[in-house]
Amino acid sequence: MAKGRHILRLAKHRNNGGEELPVCHVVSRVPSAEFRRTQNLAQWAEFQEQEKTLAGKVFAVLGDIHANIEALNVVLDDARKQGVTDFVCVGDVVGYNASPKECLEIVRGELNAHCVQGNHDYYISNLSMNLEDFSPHAAAAVKWTREQLNDDEMAYLANLPLKKPVMGFTLVHSTLDMPERWGYVFENDQATSSFAFQKTPICFHGHTHVPIVYELTDTGAKHRPAEDMTVRVGQRLFINVGSVGQPRDGDPRASYAIYVPATRELKFRRLEYDVAAAQERIKKAGLPERLWQRLEFGR
Ligand code: ZN
Repeated sequence: MAKGRHILRLAKHRNNGGEELPVCHVVSRVPSAEFRRTQNLAQWAEFQEQEKTLAGKVFAVLGDIHANIEALNVVLDDARKQGVTDFVCVGDVVGYNASPKECLEIVRGELNAHCVQGNHDYYISNLSMNLEDFSPHAAAAVKWTREQLNDDEMAYLANLPLKKPVMGFTLVHSTLDMPERWGYVFENDQATSSFAFQKTPICFHGHTHVPIVYELTDTGAKHRPAEDMTVRVGQRLFINVGSVGQPRDGDPRASYAIYVPATRELKFRRLEYDVAAAQERIKKAGLPERLWQRLEFGR
């Protein structure tokens, strides 16, 4: 780890929704190529051992559902048609949209999904959270959601882990280096930072609501578009699966990913859903206009 670099970055990022988002990252030392190769091959050997026990498993990776039941139902229908056997979730089950109870019930019950905590899951379930720094519409959604959930649902959200290894891969909402800081990955350097703490060949994440794939190379992380691919043995990937309930890449269709360990196939799915019905619910709940308007633009 000697030939490393150590950069402290503190910057403000503007996301597609026009909100100021804090980005604070310590870009950790990049381990030497030789160290990474050896460590990576050992982790892959372990991963392939686990893959044998995962024969027949097809994972759907869902993220940023954000209480959008219309989008979630369409995703579940599609996943079943695609032969999905297991569901996992990279966090933010609630927040922004108007069906928090329904979405929570499905994720916890029917799907029995392994799930990590997202920043909205945390803000909503942490009653001591100061909402003064929030944008008015985000604060309104947090307050409204708290009123909808019972103690058991709040406790479920509060107790979700920040990161979780699941059958050979890892789940996190933001980044593995400082998951509690809720940093956004918009640049290769930010992904490089997370890779330094990745102990499995593949890690799935969310948070930006933009599907994208980062691969670790000898010179750090390089991003590539979220397109279907067959993962090669030896690759290290940090994969953003996009958002089920509030996409922000200009495409309003619900986004999720499918991963098949036996064949190492990775597929990105985009699905149309009844946006008008989701918008109607948000209006009826009395939530801010911005929250229903953005759904039809995917921003
Ligand atoms: Zn989110």
